Amino acid sequence: MQLKKKVAPKKKSQPKKKIQVKKMQETTFTGKVTKIRQKEPATVIEWPRSLTHIHTYGMLSPFFEGLRKGELRATLCPNKNCPEKRLWIPPRAHCPDCHTEMTWKPLANPVIGKIYTFTEVVYAGTGIELSTPYWQVDVEIPGLATIPKSYLLYGKPYIGMKVKAEFRTKTPSNTVLDYYWVPYEE
Ligand SMILES: [Zn+2]
Repeated sequence: MQLKKKVAPKKKSQPKKKIQVKKMQETTFTGKVTKIRQKEPATVIEWPRSLTHIHTYGMLSPFFEGLRKGELRATLCPNKNCPEKRLWIPPRAHCPDCHTEMTWKPLANPVIGKIYTFTEVVYAGTGIELSTPYWQVDVEIPGLATIPKSYLLYGKPYIGMKVKAEFRTKTPSNTVLDYYWVPYEE
């Protein structure tokens, strides 16, 4: 059985509509023009990238305010029933033991600590804006539950070495790098 092909009835040709092109603002390239570093054997471009990282210190803001003023501020749990009576640096917004909101307690200057351990940093991570190599030091501070990490500004560290906290108050970076340790001799 043969199927008859249906023949579509001829449409009347319609007059072509003119496409209206509204004159809109032209899209423009807003980036920096790349440099071509090499073309052979493959194209390699130099494409500068940068970004501004917006970051809040939130409830830990008083710590950084303290650094700008040349003081180390620790946090303390105000809950009388909490087993942890010691101070915290880096600060905690809430007590790690009982979750109570912490209170602030500045350490009296001079803050003298003792090097617990240390390491030489040759390749610093992103955001560590210090010249390398530098000495990263973990310093025991009396009364603290923690052994905070920082860096030794000069000198060669050894375990048990006494150090004194100093602050970058003149040109603060507003980061934790604004306090560091220097050798301390009694
Ligand atoms: Zn607590």
